[in-house]
Amino acid sequence: MKAIVLFSGGLDSTLAVKVIQAQGIEAIPVHFLMPFLQCGEVSEITPWRDKHSQTLGAPITLRDISEEFLKIVEHPRFGYGKNFNPCIDCKILMLRKAGEFMEEAGASFVATGEVAGQRPKSQHKDTLNLIEKESGLKGYLLRPLSAKLLRLTIPEEKKWIERDKLYGFSGRGRKPQMELAQRLGITDYSWPGGGCLLTNESFCTRIDDLLKHGDLNLFNIKLARSGRYFRLSPSFKLVVGKNEEGNEKIKKFAAEADIYPVRDKTETQVFSTSNGVYFEPKGLPGPSAVGIGNYTEDEKIKAAQIVARYTDSDDDSVEVIIKEKGRESVMSVKRLDDKIVRELMV
Ligand code: SF4
Repeated sequence: MKAIVLFSGGLDSTLAVKVIQAQGIEAIPVHFLMPFLQCGEVSEITPWRDKHSQTLGAPITLRDISEEFLKIVEHPRFGYGKNFNPCIDCKILMLRKAGEFMEEAGASFVATGEVAGQRPKSQHKDTLNLIEKESGLKGYLLRPLSAKLLRLTIPEEKKWIERDKLYGFSGRGRKPQMELAQRLGITDYSWPGGGCLLTNESFCTRIDDLLKHGDLNLFNIKLARSGRYFRLSPSFKLVVGKNEEGNEKIKKFAAEADIYPVRDKTETQVFSTSNGVYFEPKGLPGPSAVGIGNYTEDEKIKAAQIVARYTDSDDDSVEVIIKEKGRESVMSVKRLDDKIVRELMV
């Protein structure tokens, strides 16, 4: 007997895996990758997966559902939470995907670490029932931590799993889970922070900006996560690195956006046709920045002035390297006034 268990990395889903395993069922943990989670990409998540797979005693399967998730961010059937978090649609999507995986893996049901009433909207009892129905898993979705408070499921009815050995946790308190963790010998665990980046008010102003300008796609989301974000015109935005890590990411995005000069096999320089521009200060420490979209000469100068603003130079003018359409130039600019910088920052 096998069961797919949705795994987020927090204690609740760790307990769900352990409770299933304790009844002699093979738990297959699955973690869904989405653009608004802390680790957004497979390469970033490998150490995380290895560590948790060891704790769970079962290898975690990763599934990337970013593209489908973006569609529900734009048009959630069941609306948003407090910010741009479409939690109900998101859970339906994850469970639908878990159901597909269940078929693929020859598993018999799906389990989650959800606790009834833990989150005001998406974990209300009625909402749990709605999510189950909409996911196509009706009867085959077990919430082992709250099972005793919920309707009998098929795995319980058919005695694949003993209902008596499941739990009846509810509400926001964490004490019962902590006690269970202690009994199961789980000591190294974390509580998931209150949701993904879509629950973060200040980040959501950037999502709002991308939505308003018809710009919401995976590339722009990664970009918006990488540094200070500025809207210079309806068709042009700029992201300025905040630290070394952010600068490296921005360089990578600039390369992805095909801004750098490239050479073909005959070593002839091929000019990029990308609508992007890359900036970095010349000869002094400072941020990398990338502008994406259609821009005027004035907007390009303003972007260079923003980059100059974030250098430590005491000089009146700062030289900024500019790479665009396969060409490289240097421009000497004054720092943009702080008030204007603040107005342009999203
Ligand atoms: S907080 Fe984010 S990841 Fe979590 S359910 Fe809501 S939308 Fe999905």
